[in-house]
Amino acid sequence: MSLEVSRAVIERMERAAIAAQPEEACAILLGQGNCISALLETRNVHPDPRTHFEIDPHALIRAFKAERSGGLQVIGYFHSHPSGDPSPSATDRAMAAHDGKVWAIFAGGTIAFWRDNKDNFDTLSYAMGTD
Ligand SMILES: [Zn+2]
Repeated sequence: MSLEVSRAVIERMERAAIAAQPEEACAILLGQGNCISALLETRNVHPDPRTHFEIDPHALIRAFKAERSGGLQVIGYFHSHPSGDPSPSATDRAMAAHDGKVWAIFAGGTIAFWRDNKDNFDTLSYAMGTD
């Protein structure tokens, strides 16, 4: 099952990642079903933001509340790796909730999408939307 991601969201993830260097950028992916149509950029509140990320919990709570009241769904999470590759790091694997959410990771000019499944991160293909 492949994702559809809007062009604007892809571009915003790239810009956020570059702007945050040498720290990791992070954001919440919003949309419906398999379609990611919006990006909610948040602060990286981890005390060691060059090698870790933690999405601002207040932003996360607001996003879930908005979803419950009929807004866009929280599809997953974005973060960047200032060095390395766009696959989940050992830290990411240790932090994973295995809740089926989508993880988008930017590194080295590439964005890769993963699903945080019960036992592992599975790679996801995606198509870029036209908007
Ligand atoms: Zn990571």
